[in-house]
Amino acid sequence: MSIALESKPITAPEARAFGNARCLVCRECRAEQPLGPFYACPECFGPLEVGYDFPSVSRASIEAGPKNVWRYADLLPVRPDIATIPNTEPGYTRLIRADNLARELGIKTLWVKDDSGNPTHSFKDRVVAVALAAARELGLEVLACPSTGNLANAVAAAAARAGIKSVVFIPQDLERPKVLATAVYGGILIAVKGNYDDVNKLASEIAGEEEGWAFVNVNVRPYYAEGSKTLGYEVAEQLGWRLPQQVVIPVASGSQLTKVDKGFTELGRLGLVEPMPYKIFGAQAAGCSPVATAFRDGQDVIRPVKPDTIAKSLAIGNPADGPYVLDVCRRTGGAVESVADDEVRDGIQLLARTEGIFAETAGGVTVATLKKLVEAGQLDPEAETVVFNTGDGLKTLDAVADRVGPAATIEPTYAAFRATGL
Ligand SMILES: *Cc1c(COP(=O)(O)O)cnc(C)c1O
Ligand SMILES: [Zn+2]
Repeated sequence: MSIALESKPITAPEARAFGNARCLVCRECRAEQPLGPFYACPECFGPLEVGYDFPSVSRASIEAGPKNVWRYADLLPVRPDIATIPNTEPGYTRLIRADNLARELGIKTLWVKDDSGNPTHSFKDRVVAVALAAARELGLEVLACPSTGNLANAVAAAAARAGIKSVVFIPQDLERPKVLATAVYGGILIAVKGNYDDVNKLASEIAGEEEGWAFVNVNVRPYYAEGSKTLGYEVAEQLGWRLPQQVVIPVASGSQLTKVDKGFTELGRLGLVEPMPYKIFGAQAAGCSPVATAFRDGQDVIRPVKPDTIAKSLAIGNPADGPYVLDVCRRTGGAVESVADDEVRDGIQLLARTEGIFAETAGGVTVATLKKLVEAGQLDPEAETVVFNTGDGLKTLDAVADRVGPAATIEPTYAAFRATGL
């Protein structure tokens, strides 16, 4: 007697529908699954990730590609002609040399990877682009997600451009700009009375019931996660095809951090960069720092927390990839640190004042963590360092509303201007 593992038959995807991706691999027991809408290993329930048969890829072929994430299509689970299919075309954001900030922090060479320049102003456009491509190949017709805010923006925009339906679930207390910047795209937006972890639990339940829905960070999560590798690829390419020595990355679910590591490793294996040791540092807000706490205490298990921080985009109390973040940071010689909300505000202002980049709270967390790591001697000030800004400050204006504003409000006369004493 055979046991049906799947309630519905999965039609085999067309050859090359997922490019050079070959299968899904369990991150725990390495068991392999066919490419499909699966995210948990049927053997051990471990998370699945995409495995590849990479062809030889050259720097020149990448450089000849479009100025967005599809320049790395050969290294992603997408069809070779993906660049011709409407998506939001995120990526290829600026990597800027941050000499002013470096001087202020006493670091020799510092770069900011500024992902606020994506179509919906956060790094989430990268992961959604790959998830949307996978959803299409898998015949899933609704794009959905539980979100801490930025993912909601990215999913709603991508679905609008693809001409498909979107259903987005958010905690009801999100920042107003993130709510409105999702609703404007015309999809369905549902505010849930609870925190992100409640919303995520609800989404997993719905994903198990509704057929044909691609919850980008749930049932198509293995594909979604691959989108984060492009951040690592871009940093290396923009440095002139070499790896930085240290990187500081914000941690919510932890997916981004672990995939930047995967991206760096792949570039080395493919001979696109000289394999070189690098250290990866994770950044969390103290009000939601389960991974930093486990790192500090030398634990392997992440104890979930109830988030209480202004860094709402990072407020995941039970991070799915937390244990893998610990692995990466320990293996590379990095660390996971956390900073208080006032330091987050300081971090936002510091980056704005020194480099003219207005980061959202997640960027404030990352810059403040960079500062803390340098001061604590955990980060080498002589080593080339990249810090990530993953979102735009216009979405989290309230974070600095009590701290900045006009120097004066005056009558429109020269005399009134003189009277200010400026
Ligand atoms: C979601 C998010 C992150 C982190 O994402 P994970 O991959 O879940 O760790 C970082 N910064 C911003 C602005 C985000 O929206
Ligand atoms: Zn397994």
